[in-house]
Amino acid sequence: MDIRKEYLEFFKNKGHDIVSSMPLVPDDPTLMFTNAGMVQFKDIFTGAIPRPQNPTATSCQLCVRAGGKHNDLENVGYTARHHTLFEMLGNFSFADYFKEEAIAYAWEFITVNLELPIDKLWVTIHDDDDQAYDIWKKHIREDRIKRFDDKENFWSMGDTGPCGPCSEIFYDQGEEHFSSDEDYLGGEGDRFLEIWNLVFMQYEQTKDKDGKITRTSLPKPSIDTGMGLERVIAIKEGVLNNFDSSNFQPIIKKIEELSKKQITDENIGSFRVIADHLRATSFMLSQGILFGNEGRPYVSRRILRRAVRHGYLLGFRKPFLAQAYDTLCDILGSHYSELKEQADYIKEQLTLEEERFFKTIDLGMSIFNDELAKTKEIFSGEVAFKLYDTYGFPLDLTEDMLRDKNLKVDNAKFDELMSEQKAKAKAAWKGSGDTASEGDFKSLLEKYGKNNFVGYEKTFENSTI
Ligand code: ATP
Ligand code: MG
Ligand code: MG
Ligand code: MG
Repeated sequence: MDIRKEYLEFFKNKGHDIVSSMPLVPDDPTLMFTNAGMVQFKDIFTGAIPRPQNPTATSCQLCVRAGGKHNDLENVGYTARHHTLFEMLGNFSFADYFKEEAIAYAWEFITVNLELPIDKLWVTIHDDDDQAYDIWKKHIREDRIKRFDDKENFWSMGDTGPCGPCSEIFYDQGEEHFSSDEDYLGGEGDRFLEIWNLVFMQYEQTKDKDGKITRTSLPKPSIDTGMGLERVIAIKEGVLNNFDSSNFQPIIKKIEELSKKQITDENIGSFRVIADHLRATSFMLSQGILFGNEGRPYVSRRILRRAVRHGYLLGFRKPFLAQAYDTLCDILGSHYSELKEQADYIKEQLTLEEERFFKTIDLGMSIFNDELAKTKEIFSGEVAFKLYDTYGFPLDLTEDMLRDKNLKVDNAKFDELMSEQKAKAKAAWKGSGDTASEGDFKSLLEKYGKNNFVGYEKTFENSTI
């Protein structure tokens, strides 16, 4: 079953307009990347622009959660369900239908179209949302409806604007496969897999001059939902980890073949990280996000360097991602034709960026290992800074290398050295061990033209979404 198509058709049949995925770079300086399907509708939800003639829409939105408030970069490779880039299916009502229909549609799609067994499904609602409770109990056993507080089940765009309780649908992957204390509903474990979040925008939040927040009921509430496609595919294929699904397996197999290493329990995380990061950086390149030292390009660089470092662990000493790119195209190229159309460009950019890091990674790793041998609790901030500044190791890469050893970087020292250096350089820094210079950009522009180029970025505040 093509779940993406099934979903969009399902909601089209319920009167929704099918809307294309918006770019990964939103037209919103406070938001690093498009991180949910609702982002392109934000101004409609707030009332800043009038609602469209058809007040209901559905989409399959490419999302990146690797920067800003939603950052899953560190989760990738450690959980079974997080990606830096993923596809979010969503249906939206702009002051049209509300809870009753949103819940009924979701339930119908999950139980009839996807044919997920009812005895594996659980739902969560907000503590105070008796209305959602009364609707849900028409569909599911009452003991399968669990209430949670604001932290889990209340959504807001920021301090002000539309907000409301949400209700999430979970799939129980079976007690027999999980043993951690975290594997309960609402925990961080993977037994109860969150698949779909239904947001009921029914309040407007305002803040007075003393900072007091007031919520008033919206006369015409709205609906925003989001379901992770990769998770649903994994469930349908009967695998417990997204990376074991057909979305990722061919890439992982290809990397296994290229590395000439066999997958083991110890190295499987590296294969997963590489497969994930290849997808994310390729899509980012396809949308004109290059590698660089600031803003979005720096996020892309961090993702790629994390992939290279895991490649290094698997024995790669020169660029390898381009060789797995065609496998990615085989999986997603028919839906995302830009991956095919820009294949040569993307492979070339991946390779150039990998080369930059492979040049210094050997030395960096040996400096890292020397320091590690001396480290008891806190890894030297000076060395972390040197790794960053001279060898191109992003701080989160160093932190990631220390994570399974339960060690932390002396961040205060790192930050101090960073500010000192910034003060010295005053403007955007140079000489960070990276060779991406204006010259590179110029030759790129000459070669590929200006149209897709997202150049210098300003610094971002935390996302408010
Ligand atoms: P989780 O608790 O698993 O981190 P979330 O509550 O942060 O998920 P939402 O913001 O509610 O996620 O997004 C809606 C849906 O998008 C989720 O129910 C999930 O199916 C999917 N999703 C969210 N983050 C990711 C991710 N990093 N990778 C893949 N799918 C994701
Ligand atoms: Mg999350
Ligand atoms: Mg969640
Ligand atoms: Mg959620």
